[in-house]
Amino acid sequence: MKPYKNKINRIRSFALALIFIGFVIMYFGIFFKKYPVVMVIFMLLGLLSIVASTIVYFWIGMLSTKAVQVVCPNCGKPTKVLGRVDMCGHCREPLTLDPELEGKEFDESYNRNRPAREGK
Ligand SMILES: [Zn+2]
Repeated sequence: MKPYKNKINRIRSFALALIFIGFVIMYFGIFFKKYPVVMVIFMLLGLLSIVASTIVYFWIGMLSTKAVQVVCPNCGKPTKVLGRVDMCGHCREPLTLDPELEGKEFDESYNRNRPAREGK
């Protein structure tokens, strides 16, 4: 079984990782004190990563307003469902808002079966 995670939790851990990476990059910048240009680049990259994380957090906030709060039938805790299928944030019980998919095996691709936007 693939390690699926509740989407909002997953994005949140991604944002957290970005902050962490940002600080690590800035920390490495300190080793280049002799080369101010390199240090500044590291600091900027670190800052960029932290700014990106802030944007992701903001995005989670937007997503949360769209997510539907449900009570998980498995563990009885409230969780948020994003898209057609999502996972309980507490016990990883697959949840669906689409009655058509009820009882079917959990497959994240149900979220993506809209016609893919070609582009670039
Ligand atoms: Zn649950």
